[in-house]
Amino acid sequence: MTADAIVEVIRKIALANALQHEGKAQVQSVLGKLIAERPNLKGRIKEAALMVQQVVQEVNKLSLEKQKKILEERWPEALVREKVEVTKKLPPLPNVEKYERVATRFSPNPDCALHLGSARAIVLCYEYAKMYHGLFLLRFEDTDPRLKKSALPFYDFVREDLTWLGCEWDGEFIQSDRLSIYYEHVEKLLEKGCAYVCTCPREEFREKVSAREPCPCRDLTPEEQLVRWKRMVDGTYAERKAVVRIKTDLNHPNPAVRDWPAFRIIDAERHPHPRVGRKYRVWPLYNFACGIDDHLMGVTHIIRGKEHLTNQTRQEYMYRHFGWSYPEAIHYGRLKITGALLSKSKILQGFRSGLFRQWDDPRLATLAALRRRGITPEAVRRLILDVGPKTADVTLSWENLYAHNRKIIDPIANRYFFVHKPRKLTVKNIPHKFNSQIPLHPDWPERGFRSFEISPVKGEASFWVSNDDLNILGEGKKIRFMGLFNFRVERVGKQLIEAAFHSEAYEEAKKLSAPLIHWIPIDTGIPCEVVMPDASPAKGIADDACKKLRLNEVVQFERFGFARIDGLNKKLTAYFTHR
Ligand SMILES: [Zn+2]
Repeated sequence: MTADAIVEVIRKIALANALQHEGKAQVQSVLGKLIAERPNLKGRIKEAALMVQQVVQEVNKLSLEKQKKILEERWPEALVREKVEVTKKLPPLPNVEKYERVATRFSPNPDCALHLGSARAIVLCYEYAKMYHGLFLLRFEDTDPRLKKSALPFYDFVREDLTWLGCEWDGEFIQSDRLSIYYEHVEKLLEKGCAYVCTCPREEFREKVSAREPCPCRDLTPEEQLVRWKRMVDGTYAERKAVVRIKTDLNHPNPAVRDWPAFRIIDAERHPHPRVGRKYRVWPLYNFACGIDDHLMGVTHIIRGKEHLTNQTRQEYMYRHFGWSYPEAIHYGRLKITGALLSKSKILQGFRSGLFRQWDDPRLATLAALRRRGITPEAVRRLILDVGPKTADVTLSWENLYAHNRKIIDPIANRYFFVHKPRKLTVKNIPHKFNSQIPLHPDWPERGFRSFEISPVKGEASFWVSNDDLNILGEGKKIRFMGLFNFRVERVGKQLIEAAFHSEAYEEAKKLSAPLIHWIPIDTGIPCEVVMPDASPAKGIADDACKKLRLNEVVQFERFGFARIDGLNKKLTAYFTHR
């Protein structure tokens, strides 16, 4: 490939990259994409890196409009690439041609933080909307101030998680703002005789309905129903004394479908709503509010878990009462992730019992926890797109997510030494000073080096090595310090491990099949604590170069694993990502 041809490829990648980053292409990611696209350039990495630097500088001087224009004119395929990739992965939505514009919605109850399970609905709804140039709506379903009470912080958590996932929404609705709309619609149904206010004790109603018989309330006149409805709203009826039911088919094989409840009374004094306080005492139930909203908001494709299949059957009765047609509904199977807690009730229970205190506790599979651990949103997205909207149940493991994430962060994360549970090791007979330069990333030498200076005193120098390596450090064993020299272990004492210099060359270590271990010169480094996925701290020392790390940076501690930098002052705190 000629230099000119390479520059052209770099220009295309840099422009596309600039558009993703508000007009500023990033050298590292452009270089990464270049190598991914032209792997044979790996052998000319220094030359390529220089070219990337120059082109990126040039591209970043252009305005965003100009960047877009050039890309559109010369490499339109680079603009649509992402879309093509998704189209390939997701099966088409049914009956798209029936609708003017596809609209999907993600509709969480803000009573808990979102987790990996919720990511499926978000990513699928967002990607499908994008795939058809449609709308992706966010709707907060917060109409149960009693049992599934929402809390103010979660509204923002949800917005933060969607933004993090890169799933920008085109419209936002909050159901607790829409009570008057629901009231208006239920009044229509009551007037039309399609719904009724039932004041039967719950048990009596249940007996009737399981015998496929109407309760005495069902056939009262619409006028009487409306009087009863007023009594619900004005407080004449107390909590649990009346519900509005939607008429379905009393012979429906599933008793849960028969005349399902649409509104109930919730004591506003005891259960104020976090947003609207004590303003309402009559609240719509899930199927009513959701069904009304999907129609009014023009949702064309509902994408949700198959546990909602019965809800579709219920809502279809209401749609027929109104003369509406039900949107397309795609019900995907259950997604299990071995070892991940994806049950909302169990998560909430963990908070009540005090087991968890923070939503980003690494033991949780919340998006906040993944973020804190250094899992990238792109890895979550790829995982979800792999699974797609399959109707069969899917069981994944954490490793599936880690594999995606590793591919993304491995080229980005610089390498450092973290000596877990440090032990002192002294090497004697060191023949001279050593100045070890270890690249921050073996594939990207231009990123720079970590430098270690070893100045032996009377041929002796001491190091921190990890207690985890004790099984390798047997007496008589020959070992190589990564990037430094080879030594022979002489004595493993309780306090001190003694060793003698053996040789310098890496080839020698290879010949001896000496294991490589990492190390830190004693009297250097910074105390470091890595919070592990089980929330336990792994304590040790990180090398001096770590003092320059920045918050949120994802690094690889060699032979230990990837970690996200969470805090840096006198001590370095990191969250373990994965191996
Ligand atoms: Zn009744």
